[in-house]
Amino acid sequence: MTEKKFTTHDIIICGGSMIGAATALQLASYGIRVALIESASVKKFSPNQPFDLRVSALSPQTISLLNSIGAWEYVLRKRCYPYRRLRVWEKSGFGDVTFEAHQINREELGFIVENRIIRIALWERISEIAKIDVYCPANFNKFAYLNNVIKVTLDDGNQLSAKLLIGADGANSAVREASQIKTSRYDYHQSCLVASVRAPSATKDITWQRFLKSGPQAFLPISPLDASLVWYHKSEFIRDLAKQDNAKLAKKIMHAFPKELGEIEVLSKGNFPLYKQHAYRYVGRGVALIGDAAHTINPLAGQGVNLGFQDSACLSQGIKMAMAQGQDWWSEEVLNRYQRQRRVSNSIMLHAMDAFYYGFSNDFGPLKFARNSLLSFAKFPFLSQVIIRYASGMSPISPTKSRSDIT
Ligand SMILES: Cc1cc2nc3c(=O)[nH]c(=O)nc-3n(C[C@H](O)[C@H](O)[C@H](O)COP(=O)(O)OP(=O)(O)OC[C@H]3O[C@@H](n4cnc5c(N)ncnc54)[C@H](O)[C@@H]3O)c2cc1C
Repeated sequence: MTEKKFTTHDIIICGGSMIGAATALQLASYGIRVALIESASVKKFSPNQPFDLRVSALSPQTISLLNSIGAWEYVLRKRCYPYRRLRVWEKSGFGDVTFEAHQINREELGFIVENRIIRIALWERISEIAKIDVYCPANFNKFAYLNNVIKVTLDDGNQLSAKLLIGADGANSAVREASQIKTSRYDYHQSCLVASVRAPSATKDITWQRFLKSGPQAFLPISPLDASLVWYHKSEFIRDLAKQDNAKLAKKIMHAFPKELGEIEVLSKGNFPLYKQHAYRYVGRGVALIGDAAHTINPLAGQGVNLGFQDSACLSQGIKMAMAQGQDWWSEEVLNRYQRQRRVSNSIMLHAMDAFYYGFSNDFGPLKFARNSLLSFAKFPFLSQVIIRYASGMSPISPTKSRSDIT
């Protein structure tokens, strides 16, 4: 029988995907000794690897976080694609608005990056940091909290201890479960088909989303030739679509999607159920939840991972501030402050997505008029600037310009 190991750290993070890995890097930069537990290892990047089906539209705020922890340059060395325009319109209405990066004095509104590339970039950076001990592949099994110390047991029986356990282990979080933190969950009874496609004739500096009564259709460019498509519809419809071979699926997509897409070839596909979930609490004794472990949002506006990065930054900065003030950074007070700041803000975003989602999948006359008017009003320079800045994770009003400066 092999002897079991027992190691001591300051913080244990369960889940080393995008949010957990980014948090490990922030905390280690403050001199904190971090243990990062992740069950799935990921293959090294090679330029001829097929595109990951899961891609994220990263906001400028997320990019500046990745930059601050030294991971963005690793993304740039691999694959990512900027978008300068964002168009939103409704098939059977008069509302049609395009937001442009120059309206907020930027070169781009954001970047589309494959989830796997973000994780690889973060892990390459982690491999350079001595303060982070990586346990991978390793599975969190349970934890106990006694005398202000968290003791985590892995599936292989090895144990780790720390002052704080962070659950960054996704929507089915085992840390959340073990902390007995309940969630509210709502099923939209819809799914989305995600497809990587070769779309040589589609314009690539723009990401767009068209609304139909059955649900939205979205286009996200991932290279000069390729794009990721998302198609929301009833679950049975999406299940049937996903069963088609790639050539038949390409025909169905070209028939149903806007003409802007042009001719396509489907490279790979997958489907995901649509639901939202929110933890009633983000913190427990010696525990904090971040990212999808705390909230799963309708992917409609591509905000899920961006919200997770904001949780990560908020919790890390709260810990840093407490350290600077000589406070116990693992204390209930510090954790509660994080919960107060993030839970309200995420809750607003979850509800806003619902308003958007239900507002656009309804043919009730006055509602249709109202949403089309909203899209038309959004064309006005001041309003569009506020919307873009908010969607980019920036303060809605530019601090350098007064309202009257904005034309
Ligand atoms: C179709 C679709 C499209 C989306 N598009 C966007 C988009 O454009 N923009 C956007 O911002 N968001 C988008 N999202 C949401 C985004 O993908 C998630 O918000 C994001 O992946 C959450 O990251 P996370 O690190 O919190 O969790 P996850 O990515 O779920 O990572 C959790 C990690 O924990 C590990 N883990 C789990 N259990 C254990 C355990 N017991 N022990 C050890 N490790 C464990 C897992 O292996 C995994 O690596 C989309 C989601 C969907 C479904």
